[in-house]
Amino acid sequence: MRFPSLLRTFYAFSNATLHRAPTPFTTAASVRPVTALRAISMPSIPFVGALFHTADSRKMSHPVQKSDSEWQAQLSPEQFRVLREKGTEAPFTGEYDKHQPTSGTYTCAGCNAPLYTADHKFKSGCGWPAFFDTVPGAVTRHSDRTFGMERIEIVCTNCGGHLGHVFKGEGYPTPTDERHCVNSVSLKFSKEDPVKEQSKA
Ligand SMILES: [Zn+2]
Repeated sequence: MRFPSLLRTFYAFSNATLHRAPTPFTTAASVRPVTALRAISMPSIPFVGALFHTADSRKMSHPVQKSDSEWQAQLSPEQFRVLREKGTEAPFTGEYDKHQPTSGTYTCAGCNAPLYTADHKFKSGCGWPAFFDTVPGAVTRHSDRTFGMERIEIVCTNCGGHLGHVFKGEGYPTPTDERHCVNSVSLKFSKEDPVKEQSKA
């Protein structure tokens, strides 16, 4: 069901802080010609990932354990598709793709665990929010061999929610030379900074 994501897209486009003309929300993003090699690093195939996800990541133990029906009651259909079925949102459509706050925290949309801070975010141009580092321990990696590629999937350590993938050695001028390519729909932004608040306490 695409309607909720269209709503979010509309919200993103109508956000005055975005320097982007309010183009009609056609499916332009999903048919956009691939002009950069980086753009193909995260295929925008919305459902195949759900069919081919490996069982091992579901067996991993995370502190927050809920049944699919519990997650469905809590999450929007698009959040469930991405977080719980390892889907991927269309590039250049996410609420936080071009979001560049000077402070604040991105938390897991499933369990609210702090995952990334505003300081970790950088402009990659890849069409999804990109981070070069994480809140320590908040993100767990494991191998993902779907699509005949060897990629590193990243999930929320606390609830196992699918975030995206991490790519290394692409040459971005960041301290880690890693790009955490994260679906906006897996995240919630908070202006507060629970990471710094916790470390003060
Ligand atoms: Zn989580």
